[in-house]
Amino acid sequence: MKTSIIGYPRVGGLRELKFATEKYFKGKITQEELKATAKSLREANWQVQKASGLDLIPSNDFSFYDILLDTANLFNIIPQRYTDLGLSELDTYFAQARGYQGEKGDVKALAMKKWFNTNYHYMVPEIEANTKIQLQGTKPFDEYHEAKALGIETKPVIVGPFTLLKLAKNHSDRSLKDLAEDLKVAYSAYLDKFAQENVSWLQFDEPYLVHDVDSDDIALLKDLYNEILRHKGQSKVLLQTYFGDIRDCYADVLDLAIDGIGLDFLEGVQSLSLVDSHSFPEDKILFAGLINGKNIWKNNYQKTLAVLDHLKEKGITSYLSTSCSLLHVPYSLKHENKLPEHYKAHFAFAEEKLTELKELSLLADKDYTNEATYQANQALFTNRPDAHDEKVEQRVAAIDDSYYTRLPEFSVREKVQKEAFHLPLFPTTTIGSFPQTRDVKVNRKAFRKNEITEEEYKAFNRQKIKDCIALQEEIGLDVLVHGEFERNDMVEYFGEHLNGYLFTEKAWVQSYGTRCVKPPIIWGDISRSQSITVEWSEYAQSLTKKPVKGMLTGPVTILNWSFPREDISVKESTLQIALAIRDEVLDLEAHGVKIIQVDEAALREKLPLRKSDWYKEYLDWAIPAFRIVHSGCQEDTQIHTHMCYSEFTDIIPAIDNMDADVITFEASRSDLQILDSLQANHFQTQVGPGVYDIHSPRVPSQEEIEDQVRKILKKVKAEKLWINPDCGLKTRGEKETTASLINLVKAAEVIRHEYTRSI
Ligand code: GLN
Ligand code: ZN
Repeated sequence: MKTSIIGYPRVGGLRELKFATEKYFKGKITQEELKATAKSLREANWQVQKASGLDLIPSNDFSFYDILLDTANLFNIIPQRYTDLGLSELDTYFAQARGYQGEKGDVKALAMKKWFNTNYHYMVPEIEANTKIQLQGTKPFDEYHEAKALGIETKPVIVGPFTLLKLAKNHSDRSLKDLAEDLKVAYSAYLDKFAQENVSWLQFDEPYLVHDVDSDDIALLKDLYNEILRHKGQSKVLLQTYFGDIRDCYADVLDLAIDGIGLDFLEGVQSLSLVDSHSFPEDKILFAGLINGKNIWKNNYQKTLAVLDHLKEKGITSYLSTSCSLLHVPYSLKHENKLPEHYKAHFAFAEEKLTELKELSLLADKDYTNEATYQANQALFTNRPDAHDEKVEQRVAAIDDSYYTRLPEFSVREKVQKEAFHLPLFPTTTIGSFPQTRDVKVNRKAFRKNEITEEEYKAFNRQKIKDCIALQEEIGLDVLVHGEFERNDMVEYFGEHLNGYLFTEKAWVQSYGTRCVKPPIIWGDISRSQSITVEWSEYAQSLTKKPVKGMLTGPVTILNWSFPREDISVKESTLQIALAIRDEVLDLEAHGVKIIQVDEAALREKLPLRKSDWYKEYLDWAIPAFRIVHSGCQEDTQIHTHMCYSEFTDIIPAIDNMDADVITFEASRSDLQILDSLQANHFQTQVGPGVYDIHSPRVPSQEEIEDQVRKILKKVKAEKLWINPDCGLKTRGEKETTASLINLVKAAEVIRHEYTRSI
């Protein structure tokens, strides 16, 4: 049996690309040096894959920032405001990814959105009136040749035209059909070029097909591919889908003149029945996505081989593949030195998944039940040390309605809280973290390595908190934060303080651009044995008369940004986490912290891609899980929540049902359409739509913020509005942060005057 993968992580096993890119941004290394690092990382990836015996090795899965942005730029989809800067090709690319503020101009970054149901983010391509879509770039060809020069034949990968078109923003007055015409020509040129070189396989990623797709979509897909596929010459084309099944268009896709179809058999709950109920064409190859590209558990060989056996019995030619790109898992277990072997034996990161592919491909061709690799694999699934905690399981079983209902109801609480806090109109606040400067990281690292004592570590953090509170008072913010200096990451931090979690040293996964996250692993039943944040929040509150927000991460986000268990449901794990965070909320309240923010940054992350599944598969338990966290609070305790991105237009009632008192969310990078929907849905919760973008280093001017608030005020009632940045400030520098917050507070003052004069 042959093997293939859809893509590989690219930041480097030790995040070499991240560090090199950030140095480049700071002008510490040259473009040539950055490119050399990138090249050596690509080579390392290919060599590892080749050594593992993988049959189809991907190329062009490398990216300096994002694959969709790469694809857009390959076809010359670059808004003019970026080309006008007159920068080098790579800098024009980075300007789109992160904005540009310098001697050549001042432009914001493109919008950034979550990549399907993952924590990876893509840059939204923008098609303008004068965009001339055509094959322009050379990246896929260059990288293919680069591998070839190493003696490695690869399978070039790009995002397909259907997904590109569905995800791009069309700012031109041209119709979709019209744009499709240009894309056909551009993608055909791409195919022509590779066909001339007799490339054996080309992969087109079309994950958009796993959504609910309608007849217009299917017509568009056919229109695109019927033309493009004419140009494949001797090359074979693999149409790759992932993150679900393609139940709405299975037969249509298989009708295309493609040579292979990649189906996800894990998230795609109907993939197998689709294959069973339709005949699979004899002249095509099925790329069976059976190795999980999103989770880190070892594959259960019994289950995988059963599917492969079944496909073989049906006479289907298959290649064994991953369910999605391995981009969403960390590089390699070989960097994990602290994780005990009896746990480690259960995991497979990207590199170990290559081994699994090899082992499975060998087993698939044999009578495998007596094979040692098979038996060793099966032994893992009967033995999970210390995963179960009876007390936790009983506590979850005892959750009743009272846990899901906070009393008194919102409107009563709102009045009580207005009187209790005496906040000005348009209160200003931040989302929680302050810049994680070098000294903060150095301090944490020194403590981890036992180079300093716990007391020294804490003393440093207390000083940081003191400075942070003083700074916020000086700037004039209304509701303060302690700054989160003790946290590496908003989820990992809680993982490390909860029972049932395991954590890694180097298991980084790309989130966006150079930003990576290190999701902790849910190993067993989860509980809290002592307070986690109380000491820091209590200390911060002792330094000021202004309210300081306690800062926690919510259960859904903790779950969604962890690697979840596969032996119990995610709902069950989420309820366990909710009870643990509830304990912490009540603890904070008992220690005099009267405003508590419970971040649900990743609430949308596991929202099913098909609308029809939203409530029954997800929101019906995820939203109640959030309510467990704060239903035990007093009426004058104000609960805030924060969500990254404002993409909840379509689930506004669910968001209101979280029953928080205030919600802050990203709004500066997207249009303010969300606000119309809030209005239309009679949204109760007070809102803080972020007034400037923290994902970029540019400093917003006071006027710019004023304008943004004026726009927001047209749609949000004054007494409901908070003024805050988009998200936490931890990735920003101190200088730009202070400058931005000063402008934010000044803007709030101006707007307050304006507003009170006008009534
Ligand atoms: N409180 C967190 C912070 O400020 C929220 C981060 C997030 O939403 N991603 O860092
Ligand atoms: Zn956020």
